[in-house]
Amino acid sequence: MGKPGKGIDKDQLYGIIESRNIEKIQFGLEQQFLTWYGSTAYFQLSSRKLGIRDPDGRGSSRDYTSKSPKIRRAGERDEGHCWLETLYVCEYCFKYTDIRSELQQHVHKCPRRLKPLGRLQYRSSELSIRRIHGRKHTLFCQCLCLFTKLFLDNKSMYFKVDHYDFYVAYDTQTNKPMAFFSKDLISFQENNLACILTFPPYQRRGLATLLMDFSYKISQRDGLISGPEQPLSPFGLVSYLKYWSALICHQFVEGELSGESRVSLDDIASATGMRTGDILMTLKSLDCITPDKELSLNVLRRWAKKNSLYKKAFIDDDFVLLDG
Ligand SMILES: [Zn+2]
Repeated sequence: MGKPGKGIDKDQLYGIIESRNIEKIQFGLEQQFLTWYGSTAYFQLSSRKLGIRDPDGRGSSRDYTSKSPKIRRAGERDEGHCWLETLYVCEYCFKYTDIRSELQQHVHKCPRRLKPLGRLQYRSSELSIRRIHGRKHTLFCQCLCLFTKLFLDNKSMYFKVDHYDFYVAYDTQTNKPMAFFSKDLISFQENNLACILTFPPYQRRGLATLLMDFSYKISQRDGLISGPEQPLSPFGLVSYLKYWSALICHQFVEGELSGESRVSLDDIASATGMRTGDILMTLKSLDCITPDKELSLNVLRRWAKKNSLYKKAFIDDDFVLLDG
């Protein structure tokens, strides 16, 4: 790990550290879970105190000043231990502290409890998706990215949020954020998704798949054949292959391609909004390309029958409120 005062090395820029340095998260008043990855981004490295050092020298997004004695100082014994035992995070706005009473006081008056940020882009009785501009709501987006780093093993940025929109999935009834994805405002590759995470308490509900579907709704509205930023993590690839399989099979079973007997990759791209490389990878994973390099429609239809719940991967068009 690079030392402060000797310039910023690349890993330091992304907050990367080999081991977990925050033991667990108290998320709101009721939920607690372990972190998955370490991140130095919450800390000032010289003191390991809570805070963010901004390599550009711009304003810090630190929200609280740490007074906790639980933080281990640099050079202190027990190197294997976490720098911080519990990080207290507001489940509405992702502001953080290492002092329990501060979170307790904050949660009751957090303005995001009653009024989530951003513009509504999707709303059903269970799920709402809101678009939040990084440039406009910088602190919220920075705190969200910091939190994300504890659960994603990638080089996601945490302080330069200006160039991203954040699509956050909320529980419509409680206004609690459950998952999100970020999207580059200007992407030369025309990617429809940069980074995606379902927060630990809300996993295994298919939320990530619904957000992937929503990201394609956006790119299709913009008339783009698109896909996520590459490379995908191994876990991300598994999730995408599941979603892409559903998307392609749906088109063959009851979508635009249902009556076709011969189709090209471009036909599938036009029907699904997927890139041909992603389509080919999905078809190979479904094992539906014959030795003659023909597409076996029977295999696709069998997959759809076997995975009869595949439509759960799709958001309901009736509730989409996409605007420009
Ligand atoms: Zn809050």
